[in-house]
Amino acid sequence: MAKCPKCDRTFSTVNYGEVDIKILGEKRYNGVVLACPHCDVALNVVFDPVALAHESKDRDNKRKPPQ
Ligand SMILES: [Zn+2]
Repeated sequence: MAKCPKCDRTFSTVNYGEVDIKILGEKRYNGVVLACPHCDVALNVVFDPVALAHESKDRDNKRKPPQ
């Protein structure tokens, strides 16, 4: 079972939250923050995999030459 580095309590679920991830102060990506269910300290921040998949699909479509 996972243990929170701040409050030392174990957990089997985490709290989910949404954040914006800025790269060089410009482009914003949808991110996900995973937090301890007891003290709410952020355990990890990752790119939202669903939003990232959409972003990548849009980019691929732009690369295709017009037909
Ligand atoms: Zn905690």
